[in-house]
Amino acid sequence: MPHVVDQRDLALMSFFPCQLASPPSAGLAIKWEECACPLCKSRRSSIFIEAQDNLQGNAGRWFSVVRCQDCGLCYTNPRPTRGSIGQFYPRDYWAVRAPSPTERTQPRFHRPTHWWRRQRERQALPWHGQRRLLDFGCGGGVFLQRMHRQGWHVTGIDSSLDAARRVRTELGLRALAGSLPHANLDPESFDVITMWQSLEHVHDPREVVQQAFFLLAPGGKLLVSAPNIESLGFQWFGRNWYGLDLPRHLTHFSPRTLTWMLERAGFHVGKVRMVRQTGWLRSSVALAAHGSSPAWWYRGLRTKYGARAASWYTRLIGRSDGMIVLAERPA
Ligand SMILES: [Zn+2]
Repeated sequence: MPHVVDQRDLALMSFFPCQLASPPSAGLAIKWEECACPLCKSRRSSIFIEAQDNLQGNAGRWFSVVRCQDCGLCYTNPRPTRGSIGQFYPRDYWAVRAPSPTERTQPRFHRPTHWWRRQRERQALPWHGQRRLLDFGCGGGVFLQRMHRQGWHVTGIDSSLDAARRVRTELGLRALAGSLPHANLDPESFDVITMWQSLEHVHDPREVVQQAFFLLAPGGKLLVSAPNIESLGFQWFGRNWYGLDLPRHLTHFSPRTLTWMLERAGFHVGKVRMVRQTGWLRSSVALAAHGSSPAWWYRGLRTKYGARAASWYTRLIGRSDGMIVLAERPA
């Protein structure tokens, strides 16, 4: 089981999607669609929360998250179509979502990897089969590169043409543009598939998870991390919770709905583990306090140690902002 996951890594391994177009303010037509529940296909839903796009330059549009009345999954609806969603991603999305200015200004390609982090990663990733790894939503390839150095045979896939090209040319690693299913990926050709905060970005997460099942060899492992809509962070900050990230996050999982989605694809699903996201708490305070003077406990959360203490508390009671689950394709 993945006992230890570095939260800074999770933030940096966020999806880097789409061949990015100009922001919506540029006046390009955005196409919208109403969708059924991505998990159970029901069309019975009710409004869960409404919130603004909080990225600068995206004109602060409002979006709705609805909750399926049959299975409880929360999802953004209506939503921009596959062809339009790219307009809501800035070109440097992965960097914008990094948790601190230090992280933003230091591309991880060029930073050393400490031995203790490598040790922790070995413990976290199931050292499995022939060590053939697929990273779905590989972004700039930081994680791929590290796993490659540790002896894994790595492949990345990302819906950003730029990101895939960059991984190939700058890192010399195999990377494909697109999503799942993908014509260049053979069934049962991987031992481990990772989805670091990428599944919530796709229009059909159930299909992606199903295809991951087919790509894994029997006994293969799938690791998924995602924001937790049942977190204390969401309860505290509501529409200002950093993990909402509308409209880029299309599905808003809870431990239960994420488990169901994986089980429906045929996986044996382990315990969902909580992942602290200290940076998200601090960013949520900043969003909530925008233009006003925050309450004393908000100000406390904005400090490094206050946020760290709060994130430990959320983990202690099983309601962290992030979560990770290990699923297995039965042998
Ligand atoms: Zn449903």
